[in-house]
Amino acid sequence: MTDNYQLIAPGPVQVPPNVLKEFAKPMIHHRTPEFTQILKESKSLLKAAFATENEVFCLSATGSGAMEAACVNLVECGDKVICINSGKFGERWRDMARILGAQVIEIKVSWGESLNLSILEKTLKENTDAKVLFTQMCETSTGALHDIKGVKDLLNKNAPDCLLAVDAITGLLTAPLPMDDWAIDCIVAGSQKAFMLPTGLSFISLSARAKNKCYSCRSPRYYFDLRKEFEASEKDQTAFSSPVSHIRALKIVLEDINSSGGYNQLFSRIAKRARLTRLGIEALGLSLFPLKPAPALSVVVLPENIDGKKLRSHIEEKYNITLMGGQADLAGKIIRIGHIGYLNDSNVLAAVEALAKALLDFGHPLNIEGALDSMKAELK
Ligand SMILES: *Cc1c(COP(=O)(O)O)cnc(C)c1O
Repeated sequence: MTDNYQLIAPGPVQVPPNVLKEFAKPMIHHRTPEFTQILKESKSLLKAAFATENEVFCLSATGSGAMEAACVNLVECGDKVICINSGKFGERWRDMARILGAQVIEIKVSWGESLNLSILEKTLKENTDAKVLFTQMCETSTGALHDIKGVKDLLNKNAPDCLLAVDAITGLLTAPLPMDDWAIDCIVAGSQKAFMLPTGLSFISLSARAKNKCYSCRSPRYYFDLRKEFEASEKDQTAFSSPVSHIRALKIVLEDINSSGGYNQLFSRIAKRARLTRLGIEALGLSLFPLKPAPALSVVVLPENIDGKKLRSHIEEKYNITLMGGQADLAGKIIRIGHIGYLNDSNVLAAVEALAKALLDFGHPLNIEGALDSMKAELK
């Protein structure tokens, strides 16, 4: 892989060069006034990113670690919980809750579809005693977007005591998800998605009532016991050794977002990449998989005679671009193109061009020039 390598996936993503430099800086101890100041500033920037006054904790774990932290602090044996399962990551919430002994009410959503709110309403009416509802904002395995505000409104109406926990690992920083305004009880996010950082750091925030549940919850936990984080936070510390480099880099990313127009500008940059990609895909005569696509990625349905696994490797080997394939039932059938991370217009064009050229290499004829021209026209 040369200097021209392009990583255009829905996570991990390309990291801005100035942010990468943060990882080369000399190490400092995490219990020093210097690091304490950095942590304080990073956490205050994180609160703005979550649009919350609640504490936001940084965990030294990938996104799934933050999901597990949400579960062990909010769910105990016997609790009834509702899990929206619309793909690979929805399955993860369900499996985690089951391991803790929860009674899981699963709402299965066909892959590629978004949650049907009238089905949710019916389920809530039958399960007004549910303790937590777990959902994704964006189901990254299918590219589908769920209507989190719609979910919250239904909870308010039908099961107001039920907590709402959102896996926003590819949702946060791609579209509005105001934690306080929408009264979301728990949001988890991860560094290697729209936060434009390397993998390994995740974020979690709890509302006041989720914090209460965390303190009364009887599930056994040690490393992910968020009570330890609440206490450490009072001293502007993390409970365990802080991931110093990641937290320094986080501060740079969030400051740069602020100085380049703030979150709404970031959302529109991502939306523009999505629009451009989808225009190119449709101009090629290909179709998009999810009915209501999320901003973080576009999922392309491959022609039936194409082996998607081979195609994906070919794109990497010949065009030096990593796009992602599908998982489980979608393995070999789709290509996922990311719109998050450090990307510019030429990366977006390159992703569509490489996909089209690879399809041509595999004997599937397409009007590549036409598609690229329509994308370029949109850029003007
Ligand atoms: C990436 C992702 C995860 C898993 O994150 P890891 O960092 O791989 O643990 C969970 N949920 C969603 C929606 C994701 O996109």
